[in-house]
Amino acid sequence: MDTSCPTADVMLVCRNGHVITERLHGCPDQALRHCDRCGADTLSACPTCGQQFPGAVAWPGPLPIGRPQPPLYCAQCGAALPWAPRPRPAADPLAALETLLRRLPLVVRQLRSRQGDRPPFRVEDEHDLEDLLRALLAVPFDDIRPEGRTPAYTPGRRTDFLLDRGALAVTVKCVRAAGDEPRLAAELAQDAAYYQARPTCRTLVCFLYDPEGRLPDPRRLEAAWSRQHDDLDVRCVSA
Ligand SMILES: [Zn+2]
Ligand SMILES: [Zn+2]
Repeated sequence: MDTSCPTADVMLVCRNGHVITERLHGCPDQALRHCDRCGADTLSACPTCGQQFPGAVAWPGPLPIGRPQPPLYCAQCGAALPWAPRPRPAADPLAALETLLRRLPLVVRQLRSRQGDRPPFRVEDEHDLEDLLRALLAVPFDDIRPEGRTPAYTPGRRTDFLLDRGALAVTVKCVRAAGDEPRLAAELAQDAAYYQARPTCRTLVCFLYDPEGRLPDPRRLEAAWSRQHDDLDVRCVSA
């Protein structure tokens, strides 16, 4: 008795996700170059890695009923296939970013309480904050480009993020002590100068992470520091 796994045939799908055949090899006469429902090109393998789409399995018994569904993601490389639904880009990127930033301290607090005796996730400095932000930005944004730079105000490297095809930049800062405003203002001026030199960047959002409430009047500070720097619109968000 043959106990090996039955081999699958190959599926042919149009670029809009209509399955042409699940038996490309078994029934080569069903191979169409264009979809007979929508006219789109057909393909039988992942455009990214070339892995063929698994088709019907030669299995004894009656054939399954109903139209087969194409895979949404390549099982080999994980790429989204052309017919996979794309996440809709945020309608108002700036509003989406501001909402996310204002809720970030809440997320950080939630990450501290873990199940059982697992160690809490902690945000101790700008690097922790950048890593958390990078992960959270993937929820509302498709295109997130990390912008590594070494500003004069820190010996270490900072990672900002460019969103909305580079039109929107976000940088983060931790408020470390009461009376930190002069340092933050000086850093913000350098950040603004850096992004003013980027012609695609129209808005810079500076996030001041202040979970201890060290800024005396954060709303007044936000209003004072949110202004035009030549062509660059700088917005300050404190939370
Ligand atoms: Zn089609
Ligand atoms: Zn692939």
